[in-house]
Amino acid sequence: MKSLTDMKNEKTLSNKLITKLAITFFLLVLLMGASYTITTIYYTNKYFEETSQKLNANIANHLIEEKFQNSSPFLQDGSVNKEFFGDLMHDMMAVNQSIEVYLLDESGSVLYSVVLNHDNPNEPAKKVDLNPINEFIESDGNIHILGDDPLDPSNQKIFSAAKFDHQDHQGYIYIILAGQNFQNVTASLFSSYSMKLGIGTSILTAIFVLIIGLISIWFLTKNLRQIIHTVKRFREGDLNIRINNPQRSDLSELAYSFNDMADTIVRNMDEIKSVDTLRRELIANVSHDLRTPLSILKGYVETLQMKKGSLNEEEKEKYLEIIQESSEKLSKMVSQLFEYSKLEAKQVEPKKEPFSLTDLILDLISNYQVLANKKNITIDLFADKNLPLVFADISLVERAIQNLMDNALKYTPEKGKVTIKTTPFENSVQVIVTDTGPGIKESDQSYIFERYRQSSESGQPQESAGLGLAIVKKIMELHNTHIQVISKPNYGSSFQFYLPCYSG
Ligand code: ADP
Repeated sequence: MKSLTDMKNEKTLSNKLITKLAITFFLLVLLMGASYTITTIYYTNKYFEETSQKLNANIANHLIEEKFQNSSPFLQDGSVNKEFFGDLMHDMMAVNQSIEVYLLDESGSVLYSVVLNHDNPNEPAKKVDLNPINEFIESDGNIHILGDDPLDPSNQKIFSAAKFDHQDHQGYIYIILAGQNFQNVTASLFSSYSMKLGIGTSILTAIFVLIIGLISIWFLTKNLRQIIHTVKRFREGDLNIRINNPQRSDLSELAYSFNDMADTIVRNMDEIKSVDTLRRELIANVSHDLRTPLSILKGYVETLQMKKGSLNEEEKEKYLEIIQESSEKLSKMVSQLFEYSKLEAKQVEPKKEPFSLTDLILDLISNYQVLANKKNITIDLFADKNLPLVFADISLVERAIQNLMDNALKYTPEKGKVTIKTTPFENSVQVIVTDTGPGIKESDQSYIFERYRQSSESGQPQESAGLGLAIVKKIMELHNTHIQVISKPNYGSSFQFYLPCYSG
């Protein structure tokens, strides 16, 4: 059960995330608004400056053409005609108070200035840079260029300029179009407009952020909320819950990872459960399976002890033979159980190596020959001449074939036949062990490879642990292959499996 603190923690977590997202979003939009305001103001200013310069490009030319015809800017003695410039100032005042007019000599030195802003305490600079002025004149006033302002040397301003050649006097008329006066006006306007623009943009963006931001945060966190919900349900014990359509989620990797993790947890839980069941089954079966041969052993030993005197040699021999058989079966059963539990617990690591299957089978056949002769059974091997080497764990494969041959000889009646066939098949070798025994009912075939399962057809007394085929199945699994049975009651059985060829 989920505690109240847990619930609170989850809520704070998702709230924290949403708050963080909202703040980030808001800051981003605010930053965008500020950058937009600054850029707009900067370019509006530039646009205004360029337009002003273009519109007033010829003002200096006009001044020379109009004013220099009737009177001269210089007196007879070569000094500046102050009266002339006084009139000029008068005319200009009526038209535009923000301009400053300068009379420059050929080197750019200021000879005289007409400045309407008397509040400016600065003395005009003595010289201005002629480069931008010449560039402007050469382009016929078609370029946007800034020049020195003698009243404010730290700032560059838009200007109009023209060259004059009047009564042996050469120089320039240099007009600053956005003079100090203009600057003061624009500066105050600038701050009030930028304030209005800034506040306007901020309010608008804040409204948009609130609406669009909340909607998009809701959409953005939709998949995350779905994942959190699924994880919570899983934690609460709904082990079947998974994230639907993980490929469609924005966090598909996380969704896939959760689904995989949930599958692994459920699989591990099932494995633990099945291991537990197996352990219980094993204990029950072992005690049951061992009880029969043990009680036979006990019975015969007791009889021998009790009737020691009354038994003849032949009887004694017979009893001892039974005791020996039973103890052999017992030891076989115990070793099979031990072997199977090691395979089941995945404690066996196959040590693969290349080897010849034909040689291995020939060895095994010679081991079984005595038993086969006893039952009058013939064992044949049909091995392909060019059979490639296989790459597998030789002792595990030997164990598997041994178990199959054990069964074949055990279930095949006298005068029967056991055949082993090996054939290359694609990148592997096919092994088939066939016998002429009673066969296995189709309904039994599916479970004879399970531990402790025995076919109802075999009709054999319970004298083995029923683990032989289960061991073969495990060995095949360790080699990434599997065992199959083809059988029909009264027509014998065939067990077949594949082993990988050695490619090196
Ligand atoms: P068991 O020790 O009982 O032989 P196995 O796992 O080797 O255990 O075999 C499981 C069961 O499959 C056997 O009990 C038998 O019923 C059946 N079986 C296996 N091999 C053959 C065969 N060659 N012919 C008929 N029945 C077989």
